[in-house]
Amino acid sequence: MAVTDTADDFDPENEAVLQATELTKQFGDFVALDDVDLDVRDGEFRSVIGPNGAGKTTLFNCLTGALKPTSGTVRFRGEDVTRLPPNERVRRGMGRSFQISTVFGGLSVRENVRLAAQSVAEGKGQIPIHRKLFSPTDRFESVEARTDEVLAEIGLEERSDDYARALAHGDRRRLEIGLVLATDPELVLLDEPTAGMGSEETQRTISLVEEVLADQTMLLIEHDIDLVMNVSDTITVLNRGQVLATGTPERIAENDDVQQAYLGGVRE
Ligand code: ADP
Ligand code: MG
Repeated sequence: MAVTDTADDFDPENEAVLQATELTKQFGDFVALDDVDLDVRDGEFRSVIGPNGAGKTTLFNCLTGALKPTSGTVRFRGEDVTRLPPNERVRRGMGRSFQISTVFGGLSVRENVRLAAQSVAEGKGQIPIHRKLFSPTDRFESVEARTDEVLAEIGLEERSDDYARALAHGDRRRLEIGLVLATDPELVLLDEPTAGMGSEETQRTISLVEEVLADQTMLLIEHDIDLVMNVSDTITVLNRGQVLATGTPERIAENDDVQQAYLGGVRE
């Protein structure tokens, strides 16, 4: 039985920022995502957890546009974005973690952040009116100011003139998160930001999530249970491509099905 705390808390005034409806993704005969419904509301910090192979990255890819779902719908602020390419979704305010390859190693940390800030400043005319429009005269200053702000937020001010390729893995992930923030997103989507990090780097990234991203509307996919329990308003548990439970951290922690499928199992 799925836990449905969010239904009790439902506030009709607070529309879903992101809404996935009956999302299914098949790879050949294999059903990686099976009829997934997910609503992320304004200001909500939602985490998605689940065992390896549960379909978390497939879900992330369908939401961000890297994969086309076999069936189902993805809406952002009520608008159907299911068939839109990833960059269009970013322009509309769906900030996602960029692939490593979009960090330009031959450019400085600052130049990387500035490019990301600029990429949305130029497209602002085509995104919802409540988001701030830049006029041509203040665009440059705004981009510079946003760049400085982001460098401070991600704690890479000291490294801002270094080549991005000179960064250690953990700093590189922080830069990737910075590139997301630079696009001034309404929703931030991150897939396992601590993956592949040593314990010190993991700790720095956890602090970054807790300090910088906690106030964002977030969809975080993460295997670090302690982080997820600490920072989430709501947790969705995926198992074998299906939503096993959705609820507050407290409810998820005491859910028997979740215990069996995940928490009680072998941790990564
Ligand atoms: P998670 O991120 O939860 O570990 P994934 O979404 O990466 O899980 O994978 C879910 C399942 O779908 C796994 O069994 C994986 O092998 C399979 N899968 C993912 N991507 C593909 C693909 N491109 N082709 C075939 N199978 C895939
Ligand atoms: Mg994954």
